[in-house]
Amino acid sequence: MASAQQILHDVFGYTQFRGAQQAIVEHVAAGGDALVLMPTGGGKSLCYQIPALLREGVGIVVSPLIALMQDQVDALIQVGVKAAFLNSSLDADSAREVSARLQRGDLDLLYVAPERLLMPGFLAMLEQVEAHVGIALFAIDEAHCVSQWGHDFRPEYRQLTVLHERFPAVPRIALTATADAPTRSEIVERLGLQEASQFVSSFDRPNIKYRVTQKNNARKQLETFLENEHPNDAGIVYCLSRRKVEETADWLRERGWDALPYHAGLDASTRNANQQRFLREEGVIMVATVAFGMGIDKPNVRFVAHLDLPKSMEGYYQETGRAGRDGLPADAWMAYGLGDVVSMRQMLDGSDAPEERKRVERRKLDALLGFCESTACRHQTILRYFGEEHPGDCGQCDNCLEPVETWDGTQAAQMALSCVYRTGQRFGVVHLVDVLLGKETDKIRQFNHHVLSTYGIGKELTQAQWGSVFRQLVAAGYLETDMEAYGGLKLLDAARPVLKGEQAVWLRHDPEPERRKATKAER
Ligand code: ADP
Ligand code: ZN
Repeated sequence: MASAQQILHDVFGYTQFRGAQQAIVEHVAAGGDALVLMPTGGGKSLCYQIPALLREGVGIVVSPLIALMQDQVDALIQVGVKAAFLNSSLDADSAREVSARLQRGDLDLLYVAPERLLMPGFLAMLEQVEAHVGIALFAIDEAHCVSQWGHDFRPEYRQLTVLHERFPAVPRIALTATADAPTRSEIVERLGLQEASQFVSSFDRPNIKYRVTQKNNARKQLETFLENEHPNDAGIVYCLSRRKVEETADWLRERGWDALPYHAGLDASTRNANQQRFLREEGVIMVATVAFGMGIDKPNVRFVAHLDLPKSMEGYYQETGRAGRDGLPADAWMAYGLGDVVSMRQMLDGSDAPEERKRVERRKLDALLGFCESTACRHQTILRYFGEEHPGDCGQCDNCLEPVETWDGTQAAQMALSCVYRTGQRFGVVHLVDVLLGKETDKIRQFNHHVLSTYGIGKELTQAQWGSVFRQLVAAGYLETDMEAYGGLKLLDAARPVLKGEQAVWLRHDPEPERRKATKAER
């Protein structure tokens, strides 16, 4: 029988496993369940493809990305693997043929959309397959789709526990690149993976140089960045709205850049043509909404620029993660202005999402703002968000290279932290700031917070400045938001020396002129 190493070499043409791949492959090939967290481009596919080839029977891959199944299957067929897919894009004849091959045992790997997999008829057929030709494994790709809080929520993913119930002997491997702690535990719980081994890869992308610039004329700033650093490179420019995508692409083209638009409002053939040009040609700039990028595997994207704020740290990480997949230096550049923050907040508030969901989204946006405002190494801040420590400063992000203008925020930090402590570590920023500013709200009266020693001690700063102080304290790891307790803020160990007066805290200078004026006027 072939070994994992042989398949890696003979079938896929690689000499070595990367990172945790070998451990994962061996674990699953031996029949174990696994949860794999690996950043985009880390090499998740081999983690189920090789065990599927090593084990008896067909590997069933559940994937929500219908558009990508074809590519993946084509790539497998090219290297001689018997692969096929089943989804709504197939006509009835082709689907019947795939089913027939599945039942004959003529497939190594079958990619299916979740809604297809869950059809009673299909599950019954799988039972036949298991009895006669065997099922090597179930791979659940993009497993974060099970999480209601992510932007990719797929209700059908919740029903995938049926796999475990009906096929208890078949190993399952769930894979994702999105996994902050709450999402991770939700995956474990929703997919019944309590017994699975978890393989968590580092999310560090050392070759990406992160930079956040204050916005004043974003387009012009973008052009300067392109002229100085990427005059002939392929890259992606993300904008929030379709209109802005079009306008920015037009503007860049007028100025001689090879820029193309991409958003969900373009017809499929234009979208496809633009994507193909970006993938095949050198030096094309794709101006896009977040509709562009999932599954785009272009190794030499040299920069990702954000003209608008992403919605969350996960979003930022995923979008910037499309740069530099080849491991060579790449830039993540973002223009950030407080005007954007206001409009994103308004968009959130105005959406008709349930209140609970809005709360989570506000919190995610706050984490991103904390990152923008942070004075610490960007790599450190990003990794901390994903629950990982970065050893020391990276020495190449904006904060590492150019010292940031800061102020001694020790006293403000002490007030903020002590306010969190005295209110019982269960309230969110809005209420905490109300307490610090000595406001008279119903909530303050209800909880008797007007009698606290921290009530009204923070009038030196504005509401907006306090917001920034709290976000920076979260980003720097003094506080964390408790997702389970309605997003209340809790103290982390690092807060203790600050509260005891043993450690100073430096905060980034508030960039917005109006806000500075307001403070002076108040003083
Ligand atoms: P993910 O699904 O985690 O985003 P993929 O499985 O698509 O990543 O792999 C990303 C790229 O890395 C692909 O081009 C793949 O061929 C390549 N790759 C994966 N594993 C290896 C390896 N062990 N050696 C060399 N290249 C690899
Ligand atoms: Zn750094």
